[in-house]
Amino acid sequence: MNNKKVVKVPIARPFIGAEEERAVVEILRSGWVSQGPKCTEFEQEMAAMIGVKYGRAVNSGTNAIHLALLACSIQPGDEVIVPAFTCVAALYPLEYIGAKPVLVDIDLDTFGIDTSKVADAITPRTKTIMLTHLFGMAADIKGTLSVASWRGLKVIEDAALGLGASVGERQVGSFGDTACLSFHPRKMITTGEGGMVLTNSDEISARVAELRNYGASVAAWERHTGKLFDLPSYEHVGYNYKLTDIQASIGLEQLKKLSDILQRRRNIAKHYDDALSDLPWLQLPQTLPGHNHAYQSYVCLVRSDPPNLDMCQAIRNRLWEHLAEQGVASVQGAQAMATISFFHRKYGWEPSRYPEALRADRTSMALPIFPGMTEDEQNHVIQSVRSFQP
Ligand SMILES: *Cc1c(COP(=O)(O)O)cnc(C)c1O
Repeated sequence: MNNKKVVKVPIARPFIGAEEERAVVEILRSGWVSQGPKCTEFEQEMAAMIGVKYGRAVNSGTNAIHLALLACSIQPGDEVIVPAFTCVAALYPLEYIGAKPVLVDIDLDTFGIDTSKVADAITPRTKTIMLTHLFGMAADIKGTLSVASWRGLKVIEDAALGLGASVGERQVGSFGDTACLSFHPRKMITTGEGGMVLTNSDEISARVAELRNYGASVAAWERHTGKLFDLPSYEHVGYNYKLTDIQASIGLEQLKKLSDILQRRRNIAKHYDDALSDLPWLQLPQTLPGHNHAYQSYVCLVRSDPPNLDMCQAIRNRLWEHLAEQGVASVQGAQAMATISFFHRKYGWEPSRYPEALRADRTSMALPIFPGMTEDEQNHVIQSVRSFQP
């Protein structure tokens, strides 16, 4: 085992302990393992924490977005404005429906949509703006909400990476008509796989509840415990996107740890800020005034003076190799959607039309950050970055 590339510090590691283990065993012994009372409890706790009326648990963030779009009545041919730099899974649900994603470039201070460019992308077919909060940092919520209300559009927050982030006193996920969370292991809290749709709307909540459960108007748990012997009525074709009570029991324990998780992530980020801020070639994550960063990721940009994209990309790629040799994992933050072959082929998007997204794609680099990261691990990352010759 003398392989130099063995990873010593991973990019992320789930923060799971004895509490989650106990909770799972309890559900396994309870006689009800599918969607049931634990999901309801998880939904209620999450909705209360975010400050919205409803949470509806589903089996992934991707499927949360799918149901949020359907519940907002997005139809084939409708256009949805999405940021040009995000996670590819966020756009797939539009393809499931046959709706069309319309890219808008991002603002590198937040990695979120540049709202000054949204108005130009709106057409008579535009129905919704997807407001994506990347890496634990809220995007320009105020700007997006004002364009949306002026043009009569709905707002769906993709908060898959935004749980725990806030603007002023308000939590990310409470601003849009609806918001979507993910509980994949790379996100703020995890249930293995999982997601949730958040909303204040009775109608959106009810539609998501039906659609995730084969389109049934009554959930299995309610039939199990109630006096309902008839099968429910099915008004729409539905899906099976249910989260299990096994997963929800993990989610509940994870949610109890969220403030601890946030504190740990913020401490690690502060330590990186202090240790790396003198490097002229590295731009560290920004925090806008009034925003509270959750640091789901710690995403830096390689920069040069004067700016030169190809040179910065070459440096970033050499830095990746250098870190890998030191046993430090690092990845690109997210991806420019115009460079994804499926989308490029289907819509003919030119990456250069979204220059900030392209810059983020080619020059971004996420350093390891996770709640259980030790001081030794972080110091090793810092030393590895500092020993690099750009
Ligand atoms: C992870 C992620 C998703 C998809 O969530 P899954 O739970 O992995 O399906 C959507 N949008 C963003 C921004 C993400 O990071």
